Amino acid sequence: MTAASVDREAQRLTALDSPIGDADHGSNLQRGFAAVRAALEKEPPATPGAVLVRSGRLLVSTVGGASGPLYGTLLRRTGKALGDAAEVDERQLAEALRAGVDAVMQLGGASAGDKTMIDALLPAVDALGDSFAAARAAAEEGAVATTPLLARKGRASYLGERSIGHQDPGATSAALLIAGLVDAAS
Ligand code: ADP
Ligand code: MG
Ligand code: MG
Repeated sequence: MTAASVDREAQRLTALDSPIGDADHGSNLQRGFAAVRAALEKEPPATPGAVLVRSGRLLVSTVGGASGPLYGTLLRRTGKALGDAAEVDERQLAEALRAGVDAVMQLGGASAGDKTMIDALLPAVDALGDSFAAARAAAEEGAVATTPLLARKGRASYLGERSIGHQDPGATSAALLIAGLVDAAS
């Protein structure tokens, strides 16, 4: 499901990574999620937590760039926090995703407002306390709200003021990822 939406949006993500990056974000993720889809189809893990841990490992080894280790960490840590629960409710997912996003912030050193994937992930985690639908909307709004920001992390930060006025590709893909996660969990 997430692999399909990444396929659909890959060109757009790469286009967003063109003015403020190196125009590879869509293809990086497309490669990674294709590997995830293939592995999960071949041998489906038994629990949602195991699916995420497995997917995270694969993303680390296939996506590359800045986003590979960051998304890999997000999914692995979220999956670990879910443990071996057979079903996951909003509260469990909210807690686990919070742990995952914390790990991404530790690894990448970005905080809210730095114009990164964090700007979509954090609002989603905060909104998950309300509902899955609210989390999805919050991630999309967070991604759009990166446009006027000055990038302080990653490749876009090399541009300084010139990073202003462009939506962050990683925040945009993070909103897709949250949508996929929410669909899978609800
Ligand atoms: P690269 O910049 O290595 O080509 P990608 O294009 O795949 O990697 O991913 C770029 C995205 O990664 C950015 O749009 C941003 O959202 C995210 N990113 C980069 N550095 C960081 C960081 N330190 N913390 C959080 N997210 C980051
Ligand atoms: Mg890039
Ligand atoms: Mg790159």
